[in-house]
Amino acid sequence: MTEVENSRQKGILYIVVPCYNEEEALETSAGKLLDKLHELKEREIISGESRIVFVDDGSRDRTWELIKALYERNEEIKGLRFAHNRGHQNAILAGMLYSRKHCDYTITIDADLQQDINAMENFIGEYVNGSEIVFGVRNSRNTDGFFKKFSATLFYKTMRLMGCDIYENSADYRLMSAKALEALAEYDEVNLFLRGIIPDIGLKSSVVYFDVFPRMQGTSKYSLTKMFTLAADGITSFSIKPIRMVFAMGVLALFVGLGMIIHIVYEHYFGYTVSGWSSILMSIWVLGGAILLSLGIIGEYVGRNYMETKRRPRYYFWEILSRDERQSDHETGQEF
Ligand code: UDP
Ligand code: MG
Repeated sequence: MTEVENSRQKGILYIVVPCYNEEEALETSAGKLLDKLHELKEREIISGESRIVFVDDGSRDRTWELIKALYERNEEIKGLRFAHNRGHQNAILAGMLYSRKHCDYTITIDADLQQDINAMENFIGEYVNGSEIVFGVRNSRNTDGFFKKFSATLFYKTMRLMGCDIYENSADYRLMSAKALEALAEYDEVNLFLRGIIPDIGLKSSVVYFDVFPRMQGTSKYSLTKMFTLAADGITSFSIKPIRMVFAMGVLALFVGLGMIIHIVYEHYFGYTVSGWSSILMSIWVLGGAILLSLGIIGEYVGRNYMETKRRPRYYFWEILSRDERQSDHETGQEF
């Protein structure tokens, strides 16, 4: 066994669970998660100080009362509560960023436990082997309906086309080390798409495949609007390619316009045209192209501005070799 493995074994795990109106699922899920936690502790895979953190995303049902009751009965449970519904991504982020101060690594999992909790050992195994981030990727989408399967495939394909380094069928079931979370904390953007940002961090990562089961209790909390918002956040937060497309269209239209000028002049002198046809058609093509092109140019500036206002960290040190700093100090581009 190497030294790296030694220091990574029996780490403190915090399981982060976002909950929105989960009163039906919570008790059962908490029971299963606690069993898992105890099993991992007994097998000496994780530290005795490991915890489960429920993040109540502004639920309107009895979710928070249930979390409170669980907390009172059990010292391994913690609860965080939002004042109002801020969405799944924010709930996960808040849970992880809160936990990073107390643990060695977090694993995020949905409250309905649709994701196979037995995959946790594999996540931890990858962490012990040196990964700072372990992505969960679903084995198949067989439990999803046709619409969800179709929209998800379309979404991941579009994201990849737009240049986002995202794993197809990746989920928000993932392990992140405290170090990776420090890096994530540097991302200040409000419009949040974790599945896209986390690969952007760039620390050593690996992938674990897991099974997905149908939801046992309650109904999906991901309404159609929430799904569209997530998709729009994903696409717009990662690229300004749609703007580039306007630019490309402008260039194309101008070229077609130039071709049209030749055609129009030819028709004007040798063909049979109604008077006024040539000038109208010419202005439509040339002006249309020019307008699209200028929109594209303006878009480039707006896009730059957009990327700039996010104030993403320019870099993040993977390791620092210096005798003057403590091991836990991570310096980033923001500080300079
Ligand atoms: N969730 C949340 N805030 C929301 C919507 C969902 O915290 O606004 C949580 C929800 O409680 C669950 C997870 O996100 O733990 C995934 O939601 P769900 O299982 O309903 O989504 P689906 O599996 O249908 O995609
Ligand atoms: Mg679910």
